[in-house]
Amino acid sequence: MAPYFTAKFGNASSIHSYGQEARAALDGSRDRIAGFLGAASAEIIFTGSGTEADNFALKGAARARRRLAGKDHILTDAVEHHAVLETCRSLEGEGFSVTYLPVDQSGKITAKAVQGGIRPTTALVSIMHANNEIGTINPIGEISRITRAEGVPLHSDAVQTFGKIPVNVEELGVDLLTISAHKIYGPKGIGALYIRRGMEIESFIHGGAQERGRRAGTENVPLAVGFSKAASIVMEEREAESDRLTSLREEFRKILSQRLPGILINGAAQPSLPHILNISFDSTKIGIDGESLLFNMDLSGLAVTSGSACTSGNMEPSHVLLAIGRDAATAKASIRFSMGRSTTIEDLQTTATSLEAIVGRIGTRLQ
Ligand code: PLP
Repeated sequence: MAPYFTAKFGNASSIHSYGQEARAALDGSRDRIAGFLGAASAEIIFTGSGTEADNFALKGAARARRRLAGKDHILTDAVEHHAVLETCRSLEGEGFSVTYLPVDQSGKITAKAVQGGIRPTTALVSIMHANNEIGTINPIGEISRITRAEGVPLHSDAVQTFGKIPVNVEELGVDLLTISAHKIYGPKGIGALYIRRGMEIESFIHGGAQERGRRAGTENVPLAVGFSKAASIVMEEREAESDRLTSLREEFRKILSQRLPGILINGAAQPSLPHILNISFDSTKIGIDGESLLFNMDLSGLAVTSGSACTSGNMEPSHVLLAIGRDAATAKASIRFSMGRSTTIEDLQTTATSLEAIVGRIGTRLQ
Protein backbone atom coordinates (compact mmCIF):
# COMPACT_ATOMS: atom_id res chain seq x y z
CA MET A 1 0.00 0.00 0.00
CA ALA A 2 2.79 2.41 0.92
CA PRO A 3 3.80 3.59 -2.58
CA TYR A 4 0.19 4.48 -3.34
CA PHE A 5 0.11 6.92 -0.43
CA THR A 6 3.20 8.75 -1.64
CA ALA A 7 5.07 8.07 -4.89
CA LYS A 8 2.17 6.71 -6.97
CA PHE A 9 -0.25 9.37 -5.79
CA GLY A 10 -2.22 9.89 -9.00
CA ASN A 11 -5.99 10.11 -9.12
CA ALA A 12 -7.29 6.94 -10.76
CA SER A 13 -9.86 8.99 -12.67
CA SER A 14 -7.28 11.32 -14.27
CA ILE A 15 -6.11 10.68 -17.79
CA HIS A 16 -2.48 11.71 -17.26
CA SER A 17 0.08 9.00 -16.74
CA TYR A 18 0.15 9.39 -12.94
CA GLY A 19 -3.57 8.83 -12.93
CA GLN A 20 -3.26 5.87 -15.24
CA GLU A 21 -0.68 4.26 -12.98
CA ALA A 22 -3.19 4.48 -10.11
CA ARG A 23 -5.97 3.25 -12.42
CA ALA A 24 -3.94 0.18 -13.34
CA ALA A 25 -3.41 -0.63 -9.65
CA LEU A 26 -7.12 -0.15 -8.92
CA ASP A 27 -8.20 -2.28 -11.87
CA GLY A 28 -5.70 -4.99 -10.95
CA SER A 29 -7.04 -5.06 -7.38
CA ARG A 30 -10.60 -5.30 -8.61
CA ASP A 31 -9.65 -8.13 -11.01
CA ARG A 32 -8.01 -10.11 -8.22
CA ILE A 33 -10.94 -9.75 -5.82
CA ALA A 34 -13.42 -10.59 -8.58
CA GLY A 35 -11.34 -13.66 -9.43
CA PHE A 36 -11.43 -14.93 -5.84
CA LEU A 37 -15.22 -14.59 -5.81
CA GLY A 38 -15.73 -16.18 -9.23
CA ALA A 39 -17.16 -12.87 -10.47
CA ALA A 40 -16.36 -10.52 -13.34
CA SER A 41 -14.39 -7.37 -12.56
CA ALA A 42 -17.28 -5.16 -13.66
CA GLU A 43 -19.45 -6.79 -10.99
CA ILE A 44 -17.29 -5.53 -8.09
CA ILE A 45 -17.87 -2.10 -6.53
CA PHE A 46 -15.46 -0.90 -3.85
CA THR A 47 -17.15 0.66 -0.81
CA GLY A 48 -15.97 2.34 2.38
CA SER A 49 -16.74 -0.73 4.55
CA GLY A 50 -18.75 -3.92 4.79
CA THR A 51 -21.44 -1.84 6.49
CA GLU A 52 -21.63 0.45 3.47
CA ALA A 53 -21.84 -2.51 1.11
CA ASP A 54 -24.76 -3.93 3.14
CA ASN A 55 -26.50 -0.53 3.08
CA PHE A 56 -25.89 -0.22 -0.66
CA ALA A 57 -27.19 -3.73 -1.40
CA LEU A 58 -30.37 -3.42 0.62
CA LYS A 59 -31.30 0.18 -0.08
CA GLY A 60 -30.21 0.06 -3.73
CA ALA A 61 -32.02 -3.17 -4.58
CA ALA A 62 -35.15 -2.54 -2.49
CA ARG A 63 -35.67 0.97 -3.87
CA ALA A 64 -35.09 -0.18 -7.46
CA ARG A 65 -37.52 -3.08 -7.13
CA ARG A 66 -40.16 -0.83 -5.64
CA ARG A 67 -39.73 1.74 -8.41
CA LEU A 68 -39.72 -0.84 -11.21
CA ALA A 69 -42.09 -3.50 -9.94
CA GLY A 70 -43.96 -1.99 -6.99
CA LYS A 71 -42.50 -4.58 -4.60
CA ASP A 72 -42.06 -3.35 -1.04
CA HIS A 73 -41.31 -6.34 1.20
CA ILE A 74 -37.87 -7.42 2.45
CA LEU A 75 -37.15 -10.85 3.89
CA THR A 76 -34.22 -11.22 6.27
CA ASP A 77 -33.55 -12.90 9.64
CA ALA A 78 -33.20 -12.01 13.29
CA VAL A 79 -29.46 -12.71 13.65
CA GLU A 80 -28.04 -10.52 10.88
CA HIS A 81 -25.28 -8.02 11.64
CA HIS A 82 -26.53 -4.57 12.68
CA ALA A 83 -25.38 -3.30 9.27
CA VAL A 84 -28.27 -5.26 7.75
CA LEU A 85 -30.77 -4.99 10.61
CA GLU A 86 -30.47 -1.21 11.01
CA THR A 87 -30.66 -0.73 7.25
CA CYS A 88 -33.90 -2.73 7.27
CA ARG A 89 -35.23 -0.55 10.08
CA SER A 90 -34.38 2.52 8.04
CA LEU A 91 -36.18 1.03 5.02
CA GLU A 92 -39.20 0.39 7.24
CA GLY A 93 -39.17 4.16 7.76
CA GLU A 94 -39.42 4.51 3.96
CA GLY A 95 -42.55 2.36 3.91
CA PHE A 96 -41.05 -1.08 3.24
CA SER A 97 -42.30 -3.97 5.35
CA VAL A 98 -39.66 -6.34 6.67
CA THR A 99 -39.90 -9.94 7.91
CA TYR A 100 -37.17 -10.95 10.36
CA LEU A 101 -37.20 -14.76 10.19
CA PRO A 102 -36.58 -16.56 13.48
CA VAL A 103 -33.65 -18.99 13.60
CA ASP A 104 -33.29 -22.44 15.09
CA GLN A 105 -31.27 -23.15 18.26
CA SER A 106 -28.04 -23.22 16.31
CA GLY A 107 -28.75 -19.86 14.65
CA LYS A 108 -29.39 -21.33 11.20
CA ILE A 109 -31.89 -20.21 8.56
CA THR A 110 -33.26 -22.99 6.39
CA ALA A 111 -34.27 -22.78 2.74
CA LYS A 112 -37.73 -23.92 3.82
CA ALA A 113 -38.08 -20.96 6.18
CA VAL A 114 -37.07 -18.61 3.37
CA GLN A 115 -39.56 -20.22 1.02
CA GLY A 116 -42.30 -19.76 3.61
CA GLY A 117 -41.40 -16.10 4.08
CA ILE A 118 -41.43 -15.01 0.42
CA ARG A 119 -44.52 -13.03 -0.62
CA PRO A 120 -45.65 -11.85 -4.05
CA THR A 121 -44.45 -8.39 -2.95
CA THR A 122 -40.96 -9.49 -1.83
CA ALA A 123 -38.36 -7.17 -3.36
CA LEU A 124 -35.26 -8.75 -1.84
CA VAL A 125 -34.04 -11.53 0.44
CA SER A 126 -30.97 -10.94 2.62
CA ILE A 127 -29.47 -13.86 4.55
CA MET A 128 -25.91 -13.81 5.91
CA HIS A 129 -23.45 -16.46 4.78
CA ALA A 130 -22.24 -17.08 8.34
CA ASN A 131 -22.97 -15.45 11.64
CA ASN A 132 -20.26 -13.24 13.08
CA GLU A 133 -21.07 -13.97 16.74
CA ILE A 134 -21.59 -17.72 16.79
CA GLY A 135 -20.09 -18.86 13.48
CA THR A 136 -23.09 -20.81 12.15
CA ILE A 137 -22.98 -21.18 8.35
CA ASN A 138 -26.22 -20.87 6.38
CA PRO A 139 -27.12 -23.03 3.33
CA ILE A 140 -26.98 -20.13 0.87
CA GLY A 141 -26.78 -22.46 -2.16
CA GLU A 142 -30.09 -24.08 -1.17
CA ILE A 143 -31.66 -20.72 -0.32
CA SER A 144 -30.69 -19.28 -3.71
CA ARG A 145 -32.43 -22.15 -5.51
CA ILE A 146 -35.64 -20.99 -3.83
CA THR A 147 -35.12 -17.26 -4.45
CA ARG A 148 -34.28 -17.92 -8.11
CA ALA A 149 -37.35 -20.04 -8.61
CA GLU A 150 -39.40 -17.24 -7.04
CA GLY A 151 -37.62 -14.56 -9.11
CA VAL A 152 -36.47 -12.62 -6.04
CA PRO A 153 -32.89 -11.28 -5.80
CA LEU A 154 -30.73 -12.63 -2.96
CA HIS A 155 -28.13 -10.68 -0.98
CA SER A 156 -25.70 -12.37 1.37
CA ASP A 157 -23.35 -10.76 3.87
CA ALA A 158 -20.15 -12.78 3.48
CA VAL A 159 -17.96 -10.53 5.62
CA GLN A 160 -17.16 -13.42 7.97
CA THR A 161 -16.71 -16.12 5.35
CA PHE A 162 -14.56 -14.52 2.64
CA GLY A 163 -11.05 -15.87 3.16
CA LYS A 164 -12.23 -18.51 5.66
CA ILE A 165 -14.38 -20.90 3.61
CA PRO A 166 -15.09 -21.05 -0.15
CA VAL A 167 -17.10 -18.02 -1.31
CA ASN A 168 -18.02 -18.30 -4.98
CA VAL A 169 -20.92 -16.22 -6.25
CA GLU A 170 -21.88 -18.82 -8.88
CA GLU A 171 -21.88 -21.73 -6.46
CA LEU A 172 -23.78 -19.69 -3.88
CA GLY A 173 -26.16 -18.37 -6.54
CA VAL A 174 -26.32 -14.91 -4.98
CA ASP A 175 -27.14 -11.66 -6.79
CA LEU A 176 -25.45 -9.37 -4.26
CA LEU A 177 -22.66 -10.20 -1.82
CA THR A 178 -20.81 -8.13 0.79
CA ILE A 179 -17.17 -8.51 1.84
CA SER A 180 -14.81 -6.40 3.97
CA ALA A 181 -11.02 -6.05 4.01
CA HIS A 182 -10.23 -5.81 7.70
CA LYS A 183 -11.60 -9.29 8.46
CA ILE A 184 -8.80 -10.75 6.34
CA TYR A 185 -5.99 -8.58 7.74
CA GLY A 186 -6.48 -5.94 5.08
CA PRO A 187 -6.89 -2.23 5.84
CA LYS A 188 -9.87 -0.90 7.77
CA GLY A 189 -12.20 1.34 5.78
CA ILE A 190 -12.72 -0.62 2.58
CA GLY A 191 -15.22 -3.27 1.57
CA ALA A 192 -16.78 -4.40 -1.66
CA LEU A 193 -20.18 -5.27 -3.03
CA TYR A 194 -20.63 -7.88 -5.73
CA ILE A 195 -23.54 -6.92 -7.99
CA ARG A 196 -24.57 -9.56 -10.51
CA ARG A 197 -24.64 -8.24 -14.06
CA GLY A 198 -28.14 -7.15 -15.03
CA MET A 199 -29.22 -6.67 -11.41
CA GLU A 200 -31.40 -3.58 -11.00
CA ILE A 201 -29.91 -1.45 -8.24
CA GLU A 202 -29.99 2.26 -7.52
CA SER A 203 -26.73 4.19 -7.24
CA PHE A 204 -25.63 4.65 -3.67
CA ILE A 205 -23.52 7.80 -3.85
CA HIS A 206 -24.25 10.32 -6.58
CA GLY A 207 -21.56 12.41 -8.23
CA GLY A 208 -18.85 11.46 -10.70
CA ALA A 209 -18.64 8.35 -12.81
CA GLN A 210 -16.41 6.35 -10.45
CA GLU A 211 -17.39 2.76 -9.73
CA ARG A 212 -19.64 2.79 -12.82
CA GLY A 213 -21.53 5.76 -11.44
CA ARG A 214 -22.90 3.64 -8.62
CA ARG A 215 -20.66 4.84 -5.86
CA ALA A 216 -19.20 8.19 -6.84
CA GLY A 217 -16.11 9.72 -5.22
CA THR A 218 -12.38 9.57 -5.87
CA GLU A 219 -11.30 5.96 -5.50
CA ASN A 220 -9.23 4.88 -2.51
CA VAL A 221 -6.37 3.28 -4.40
CA PRO A 222 -4.03 2.40 -1.49
CA LEU A 223 -6.82 0.65 0.39
CA ALA A 224 -7.98 -1.25 -2.70
CA VAL A 225 -4.39 -2.40 -3.26
CA GLY A 226 -4.16 -3.47 0.40
CA PHE A 227 -7.48 -5.29 0.20
CA SER A 228 -6.46 -7.33 -2.83
CA LYS A 229 -3.02 -8.09 -1.41
CA ALA A 230 -4.57 -9.33 1.83
CA ALA A 231 -7.03 -11.42 -0.17
CA SER A 232 -4.18 -12.95 -2.21
CA ILE A 233 -2.35 -13.94 0.96
CA VAL A 234 -5.35 -15.44 2.76
CA MET A 235 -6.49 -17.32 -0.32
CA GLU A 236 -3.09 -18.94 -0.66
CA GLU A 237 -3.19 -20.12 2.95
CA ARG A 238 -6.94 -20.60 3.35
CA GLU A 239 -7.30 -24.37 3.35
CA ALA A 240 -4.32 -25.11 5.60
CA GLU A 241 -5.20 -22.26 7.95
CA SER A 242 -8.81 -23.31 8.10
CA ASP A 243 -7.83 -26.85 9.09
CA ARG A 244 -5.43 -25.52 11.71
CA LEU A 245 -8.06 -23.23 13.23
CA THR A 246 -10.71 -25.95 13.20
CA SER A 247 -8.51 -28.28 15.23
CA LEU A 248 -7.53 -25.45 17.57
CA ARG A 249 -11.17 -24.58 18.12
CA GLU A 250 -12.09 -28.20 18.82
CA GLU A 251 -9.22 -28.53 21.25
CA PHE A 252 -10.23 -25.27 22.95
CA ARG A 253 -13.82 -26.44 23.22
CA LYS A 254 -12.61 -29.60 24.98
CA ILE A 255 -10.29 -27.73 27.35
CA LEU A 256 -13.01 -25.25 28.32
CA SER A 257 -15.64 -27.95 28.84
CA GLN A 258 -13.25 -29.84 31.14
CA ARG A 259 -12.18 -26.81 33.13
CA LEU A 260 -15.56 -25.09 33.28
CA PRO A 261 -18.13 -27.87 33.41
CA GLY A 262 -21.65 -26.74 32.51
CA ILE A 263 -20.72 -24.04 30.00
CA LEU A 264 -23.03 -23.78 27.04
CA ILE A 265 -21.64 -23.73 23.51
CA ASN A 266 -23.51 -21.34 21.22
CA GLY A 267 -23.98 -22.08 17.53
CA ALA A 268 -23.86 -25.17 15.38
CA ALA A 269 -21.12 -27.73 15.84
CA GLN A 270 -21.12 -28.11 12.03
CA PRO A 271 -21.16 -26.40 9.64
CA SER A 272 -19.54 -23.49 11.39
CA LEU A 273 -16.71 -21.04 10.91
CA PRO A 274 -13.31 -22.40 11.92
CA HIS A 275 -12.21 -19.38 13.95
CA ILE A 276 -15.15 -18.65 16.26
CA LEU A 277 -16.12 -20.23 19.57
CA ASN A 278 -18.93 -18.66 21.58
CA ILE A 279 -19.75 -19.83 25.11
CA SER A 280 -22.30 -18.85 27.76
CA PHE A 281 -22.50 -19.36 31.49
CA ASP A 282 -25.96 -20.73 32.28
CA SER A 283 -27.68 -18.15 34.53
CA THR A 284 -29.60 -20.87 36.37
CA LYS A 285 -26.34 -22.49 37.46
CA ILE A 286 -23.87 -19.70 37.96
CA GLY A 287 -24.31 -16.01 38.72
CA ILE A 288 -21.76 -14.04 36.76
CA ASP A 289 -21.78 -10.45 35.62
CA GLY A 290 -20.99 -10.28 31.92
CA GLU A 291 -19.42 -6.86 32.10
CA SER A 292 -16.97 -7.73 34.88
CA LEU A 293 -16.19 -10.98 33.07
CA LEU A 294 -15.04 -9.06 30.00
CA PHE A 295 -13.31 -6.42 32.12
CA ASN A 296 -11.33 -9.08 33.97
CA MET A 297 -10.46 -10.85 30.74
CA ASP A 298 -9.11 -7.56 29.40
CA LEU A 299 -7.02 -7.06 32.54
CA SER A 300 -5.51 -10.49 31.88
CA GLY A 301 -4.53 -9.34 28.40
CA LEU A 302 -7.29 -11.24 26.62
CA ALA A 303 -9.15 -9.41 23.87
CA VAL A 304 -12.57 -11.01 23.69
CA THR A 305 -16.11 -9.79 23.21
CA SER A 306 -19.56 -10.86 24.25
CA GLY A 307 -20.99 -9.78 20.93
CA SER A 308 -23.10 -7.21 22.69
CA ALA A 309 -23.15 -3.47 22.35
CA CYS A 310 -21.80 -1.78 25.43
CA THR A 311 -22.96 1.80 25.70
CA SER A 312 -22.38 4.01 28.73
CA GLY A 313 -21.82 1.04 31.00
CA ASN A 314 -25.12 -0.53 30.04
CA MET A 315 -24.44 -3.83 28.35
CA GLU A 316 -27.28 -5.06 26.17
CA PRO A 317 -27.57 -8.80 25.67
CA SER A 318 -26.66 -9.96 22.16
CA HIS A 319 -29.63 -10.10 19.76
CA VAL A 320 -28.10 -13.26 18.29
CA LEU A 321 -27.94 -15.12 21.60
CA LEU A 322 -31.48 -14.05 22.49
CA ALA A 323 -32.66 -15.26 19.07
CA ILE A 324 -31.20 -18.75 19.65
CA GLY A 325 -33.10 -18.95 22.93
CA ARG A 326 -30.66 -17.83 25.63
CA ASP A 327 -32.22 -15.82 28.46
CA ALA A 328 -30.94 -12.26 28.93
CA ALA A 329 -28.69 -13.02 31.94
CA THR A 330 -27.11 -16.02 30.17
CA ALA A 331 -26.70 -14.00 26.97
CA LYS A 332 -24.89 -11.28 28.92
CA ALA A 333 -22.60 -13.85 30.55
CA SER A 334 -21.17 -14.96 27.21
CA ILE A 335 -17.82 -14.77 25.52
CA ARG A 336 -17.03 -14.85 21.84
CA PHE A 337 -13.50 -16.07 21.18
CA SER A 338 -12.09 -15.32 17.74
CA MET A 339 -8.84 -16.93 16.72
CA GLY A 340 -6.50 -15.88 13.98
CA ARG A 341 -3.20 -16.42 12.23
CA SER A 342 -1.11 -15.84 15.34
CA THR A 343 -3.21 -17.93 17.75
CA THR A 344 -1.45 -20.99 19.15
CA ILE A 345 -2.55 -23.84 21.39
CA GLU A 346 -0.45 -22.32 24.19
CA ASP A 347 -2.50 -19.12 23.89
CA LEU A 348 -5.66 -21.13 24.31
CA GLN A 349 -4.33 -23.00 27.32
CA THR A 350 -3.34 -19.72 28.98
CA THR A 351 -6.75 -18.31 28.13
CA ALA A 352 -8.51 -21.26 29.72
CA THR A 353 -6.39 -20.93 32.87
CA SER A 354 -7.14 -17.21 33.17
CA LEU A 355 -10.83 -17.71 32.52
CA GLU A 356 -11.07 -20.47 35.12
CA ALA A 357 -9.44 -18.18 37.70
CA ILE A 358 -11.70 -15.25 36.81
CA VAL A 359 -14.86 -17.35 37.01
CA GLY A 360 -13.69 -18.74 40.36
CA ARG A 361 -13.25 -15.17 41.59
CA ILE A 362 -16.35 -13.44 40.31
CA GLY A 363 -18.86 -16.26 39.75
CA THR A 364 -21.40 -17.52 42.31
CA ARG A 365 -22.49 -21.14 42.02
CA LEU A 366 -26.27 -21.36 42.28
CA GLN A 367 -26.64 -25.13 42.19
N1 PLP B 1 -21.28 -7.90 8.48
C1 PLP B 1 -20.70 -8.77 9.32
C2 PLP B 1 -21.22 -10.18 9.37
C3 PLP B 1 -19.64 -8.37 10.13
O1 PLP B 1 -19.07 -9.25 10.97
C4 PLP B 1 -19.19 -7.04 10.04
C5 PLP B 1 -18.10 -6.55 10.90
O2 PLP B 1 -17.95 -6.93 12.03
C6 PLP B 1 -19.81 -6.17 9.13
C7 PLP B 1 -20.86 -6.64 8.37
C8 PLP B 1 -19.40 -4.76 8.98
O3 PLP B 1 -18.20 -4.64 8.25
P1 PLP B 1 -17.31 -3.31 8.41
O4 PLP B 1 -16.68 -3.41 9.77
O5 PLP B 1 -16.33 -3.37 7.28
O6 PLP B 1 -18.23 -2.15 8.33
